[in-house]
Amino acid sequence: MLPTATPETNAYEVALENFDLAANALELEENVRAMIKYPERILCVSVPVRMDNGHIFRYEGYRVQHSTTRGPAKGGIRYHPNVTVDEVKALATWMTWKCAVVNIPFGGGKGGVTCNPKEMSIGEIERLTRRYASAILPLIGPEQDIPAPDVYTTPQIMAWIMDTYSMTKGYPVPGVVTGKPICLGGSLGRNEATGRGVFYTVLSSCEQLGIPVKEARVVVQGFGNAGSIAAHLLDSAQAVVIGASDSRIAIYNRHGLDIPKLITHKERTGSLKGFPAAEEITPEELLSLECEILIPAALENTIIEANAHTIRTRIVAEAANGPVTPEADRILDRKGVFLIPDILCNAGGVTVSYFEWVQDEQHLFWDAQDVYNRLERVMKTSFNEVFKIHVDHKVNMRLAANMLGVGRVAEAVKLRGLYP
Ligand code: GLU
Repeated sequence: MLPTATPETNAYEVALENFDLAANALELEENVRAMIKYPERILCVSVPVRMDNGHIFRYEGYRVQHSTTRGPAKGGIRYHPNVTVDEVKALATWMTWKCAVVNIPFGGGKGGVTCNPKEMSIGEIERLTRRYASAILPLIGPEQDIPAPDVYTTPQIMAWIMDTYSMTKGYPVPGVVTGKPICLGGSLGRNEATGRGVFYTVLSSCEQLGIPVKEARVVVQGFGNAGSIAAHLLDSAQAVVIGASDSRIAIYNRHGLDIPKLITHKERTGSLKGFPAAEEITPEELLSLECEILIPAALENTIIEANAHTIRTRIVAEAANGPVTPEADRILDRKGVFLIPDILCNAGGVTVSYFEWVQDEQHLFWDAQDVYNRLERVMKTSFNEVFKIHVDHKVNMRLAANMLGVGRVAEAVKLRGLYP
């Protein structure tokens, strides 16, 4: 078992602490802080669902709009048993700084429903989704707030949200969500965008640190959409993925796991369990494997004060949102670990969501290579901007990214001024 999070690892407290560090470093005026620090809107909804056995079960859901200063709120919807309003507030806050770091014209939002989709039938998930979508309907829309997939939500779920919204409007509105299936106005390259963005930022980091990607040892915690695709791209670039885990098991092979086969195995069985040519290790052992690149790609608070000292890597690439707590940040800093912060590292997903929204609005679609080229340009430019702040201001990469993101939102809010 991984160590359980303590009260200090409340994700929203972490988000506020990191905001304060950036605001202090930027010497932001109190008036500006007051306008950009906290969520603009928080909606809590009841989601009653008729289960397959005929009983009605009430779920709780949220949609938080942290900021619409730079554009419509943007951010995914999470279905997970541990979803709380504080978690959704934190995730929405991080979306604001993330969209600003990659300089796309969006604010930040996030949604979530406290549920366990792994224990629900497809029909139950569809009914939950449609009822949740109609409950948050007053807040969402292509010019207002645009949801997308997050942990345990899929293109199919986005299609149901698009359909529910469109049916109440009376005409199709593909731009209300991103991460849709391609045939409904989804973008080529969206599905792999988060993992591909992680890959680009890892390449940039290796270049800066003089670490050859060829034969670099990689460990991936969490083998979902982001983790498995980052692993696959690094494997194709001849890095060696020696360890991986999902919510059930951690596995290791010091000569390298066969990543294409592991992806097929996970697709077929739903887990990494039973994969041949690998030994089972504990989650703690996985995180403490000696490697060049460690990719936490699961949930928040997996690298915390209690285990940060066991980490033996050169680079931590945060494919997940909020995997490293501020206490663990300080320990990793002292150890000289180079961290690619979440709001930069995993921003490829929302960047291609932006491309999808642009294509939907224009009714004109791009080919996959066009999407990859544009994504690569955005990720590399953003990495270089954050890296420059890191060097010029002698601050760690987390603070540098937050300074860039918070700074851009502060500039925008000052220009807009205070209404009324
Ligand atoms: N859920 C993803 C994230 O945390 C993507 C959000 C989006 O595409 O809007 O960045």
